[in-house]
Amino acid sequence: MKRVCVLPGDGIGPEVVSSAVKVLEAASDELEFVHADIGRTAYERHGSYLPGDTLKTMRECDSCLFGAVTTVESADYSSPVLTFRKELDLYANVRPVRNLVKISGRSPIDVVIVRENTEGMYTQNEVFDDIGVTTMRRVSRKASERIVGFAMRYARANGRRRITCVHKSNVLKASDGLFASTFRELMASGGIGLEADEQLVDSCALKLVTEPSAFDMIVTLNLYGDILSDVAAGVAGGLGFAPSGNIGDKHSVFEPAHGSAPDIAGRGVANPTAAILAGSMMLRHLGLSEDAGRIEGAVMQFYSSGHLTADLGGRHGSDSFTEHVLRNLRPGAQH
Ligand code: NAD
Repeated sequence: MKRVCVLPGDGIGPEVVSSAVKVLEAASDELEFVHADIGRTAYERHGSYLPGDTLKTMRECDSCLFGAVTTVESADYSSPVLTFRKELDLYANVRPVRNLVKISGRSPIDVVIVRENTEGMYTQNEVFDDIGVTTMRRVSRKASERIVGFAMRYARANGRRRITCVHKSNVLKASDGLFASTFRELMASGGIGLEADEQLVDSCALKLVTEPSAFDMIVTLNLYGDILSDVAAGVAGGLGFAPSGNIGDKHSVFEPAHGSAPDIAGRGVANPTAAILAGSMMLRHLGLSEDAGRIEGAVMQFYSSGHLTADLGGRHGSDSFTEHVLRNLRPGAQH
């Protein structure tokens, strides 16, 4: 059995995570779930956005499924997401984006964005002075090697052929230059069978929209990856479709790429697709690829039958969508 720590969080987090857990329970006999608090909910119950007990449970489980948290505007707030990424050394953020529905006028997309998850603009080191604020941005050789190495292993394991390194080394010559040169070195020495490509981040953003088929896999720095994966999700149909994995050598946390969407929380219209696909990514990571494949098939069957969720202008809310996916998972339902 594999133990999964379930972290519903805030806003639509509990809604989409509860759908995902129902689907995971129906698809696999190999999972045991343990619930833990995070975000505002955790603060109200335990006085901390990421209680020590939650972090302990996350460490003890084989993997974690996380919803989303709402950022709090307060001096004593620090992001529980950035904290668990750091504490569990989840250095790779993986976001596969592909179309589940055909959207007229938009080109198809099938790209995996691998983003460095521990440094770049996310070191949260901001220094105030009389003039303004200086944000410290770190790019290290060690973290660059680790993420490029991860991307190369991921490409091989998942049948991806071309890796595009995205940076802004024409302006950030030393820092992004280090990231780009590390990519070139590693691909030259160990990238047999993989094609190396490079793109500046601004032209990458444009091309993801105008010619998404130009990309197979992207490896990039923290902030660029965060922004580009939302651009890619938009091209694929919306944030409700994009799953995400935070992966380290020992621990892993899977989550939908979207946030807590307070604007639609409690209305029953949140699309659980990204959370369910985050669950299937987790199953693959845990070696339960067959169960993962059945979940992906059941989700695809919903969309290929012409159904649409509320965020795409359709009539299916969270519950109705989940019921369809559960029905598609029953033996004999998938063809
Ligand atoms: P968001 O992703 O929550 O929402 C952006 C837009 O997409 C909203 O209009 C929302 O209704 C829609 N949307 C998102 N997920 C959807 C879904 N599953 N189905 C249908 N529509 C969906 O981003 P935001 O509004 O910028 O942020 C809201 C809060 O979430 C903020 O407090 C932000 O800091 C936080 N946030 C948390 C995480 C995380 O926990 N990993 C990530 C991003 C944002």
